[in-house]
Amino acid sequence: MKIHDENIISLQSLKSDCSQCSGLCCTALFFSKMDGFPEDKQAEKPCSNLQKNYQCKIHGELEKKKMKGCIGYDCFGAGQQVTQSIYFGQTWQNTPGKAKEIFDVYIVVFQLYQIRYFLLESMSLLPAKILKSNIKSLIQENEIICNSVP
Ligand code: SF4
Repeated sequence: MKIHDENIISLQSLKSDCSQCSGLCCTALFFSKMDGFPEDKQAEKPCSNLQKNYQCKIHGELEKKKMKGCIGYDCFGAGQQVTQSIYFGQTWQNTPGKAKEIFDVYIVVFQLYQIRYFLLESMSLLPAKILKSNIKSLIQENEIICNSVP
């Protein structure tokens, strides 16, 4: 099953770039040790391994430490979108008054990007060929909603 070129380009735009994010997944979300994260953590609290510069203190050791939750998580580019394009560098750390809003927006954008990723991927499946125009409309709708957040 081949992914068309236009879909590859769109999928690339959903690639996460942690260097442009403010550690949103490591802060906004709750997670647990049982799921392969370093600790049981409440939502909206930074992971104890997240440094002030938003980098992970144990990034190079995630595999050795069997942090499958951290390794497997993908925000589909929502983190950099929220940090750079929606809040223009304002973060939960440098603008604490907006932290709650930023976390909520991140979760909405993450879910929308995840949906868009699966819609794009479904266009590459032969059995879904008959649904292509419906899927395209849903992607356009998704883009419109994303552009109206927050
Ligand atoms: S261990 Fe590192 S990658 Fe995992 S949640 Fe904490 S800061 Fe993020």
